[in-house]
Amino acid sequence: MTGQSDRAVAELARAWRAGPDGVWTAPGRVNLIGEHVDYNGGRCLPMALDRVTAAAVHVRGDDQVQLSSDDPDAEPFTGRLTDLGPGCVSGWAGYAAGVLWALQQAGIEVPGMDVAVSSDVPLGAGLSSSASLECAVALAAAELAGRSDDPALRRVLIGAAIRAENEVVGAATGGMDQTVALLAVEGAALLIDTRDGVTAPVPLGLAEAGLQLLVIDTRVRHELADGQYGKRRADCEEAARLLGVGLLGEATLADVDRLTDPRLRARARHVVSEIARVDELVALVRAGRVAECGSLLNASHASLRDDYEVSAVELDTVVAAATSAGALGARMTGGGFGGSAIALVPESAVPDVEAAVLRACAERGLTRPATLAVTSGPAARRVF
Ligand code: ADP
Ligand code: MG
Repeated sequence: MTGQSDRAVAELARAWRAGPDGVWTAPGRVNLIGEHVDYNGGRCLPMALDRVTAAAVHVRGDDQVQLSSDDPDAEPFTGRLTDLGPGCVSGWAGYAAGVLWALQQAGIEVPGMDVAVSSDVPLGAGLSSSASLECAVALAAAELAGRSDDPALRRVLIGAAIRAENEVVGAATGGMDQTVALLAVEGAALLIDTRDGVTAPVPLGLAEAGLQLLVIDTRVRHELADGQYGKRRADCEEAARLLGVGLLGEATLADVDRLTDPRLRARARHVVSEIARVDELVALVRAGRVAECGSLLNASHASLRDDYEVSAVELDTVVAAATSAGALGARMTGGGFGGSAIALVPESAVPDVEAAVLRACAERGLTRPATLAVTSGPAARRVF
């Protein structure tokens, strides 16, 4: 070997040794229908995106954890494995550190590690970059702790990711996002019954039907989002208590009519009618009639706007523009108050819908939205 190739080999060997022990990804998601039902024991139908957070992880020989992200707003974090719980970590690092804490709480002996993350899920757009970050780190840490990747492990990871978000980050979200990130099946949406966590893939057949799912990111998030989320949950709990059911998702529309408080009645009507729409949509898709689902999306949007009051002028504008330009149906998706909408669009109408959405926002002086044509991606996995 020449001196030069010796050096190259030594260089490669050094890079290999210092490089990650593996790279794991987990997807963002859109919820096709079943919004604000995951904390009410209802059914929802999210779809994993073909966009992911990737976590490259290198096991250390000590008890330190170093977290970094290529997001320019994310400061690197360093801490000890024993100091990752509630109150110890703030900002973005809480999502990843929180998962490592929750895994330890679940009895998984996570090693010290360096974690570098990179994501093509837009952050804060309602596409669950947060759960994709949690779940990529969760799967990585569990495998590096020697656990084999099987359905039972994934159930543990879902619980750990939810605990990280609820207890370490302090965001009172339900479990839909983590469940789909870890259990999705490519090409299908995932029907989740949040009462018992049972899931079933629902193959969509969008391309076969000549349809495209378009995500419209309003690039706006109104500040009131977090407080309002808590208020909606409280309204649902109060309505369930008044109706004598454990979770509002168990109530019927006849029950809802018994509520005398108009606000609680409207909130409950959304939850109960939304769960019925999920069942109707799943039945249509399974019957090969996905092109007939548009009116259910429109009805879901109207219910979220009028009864649940979680929409925003930006969401209403893009939904109306999309449907009048040829979308079969459209709705806000995610928690609301900004974030993203989805539209079910015949492939040939995609350019018209995109143009109409941009035009409508420009005419009203709203932030220019971003549109993404998405397909259904796989669940979290090791890619390297
Ligand atoms: P969404 O989950 O809809 O994207 P959230 O507000 O729940 O919105 O989560 C967004 C937050 O998650 C970001 O503000 C950031 O703190 C964190 N986050 C997600 N992905 C990354 C990433 N790749 N790098 C750094 N932080 C991230
Ligand atoms: Mg989130």
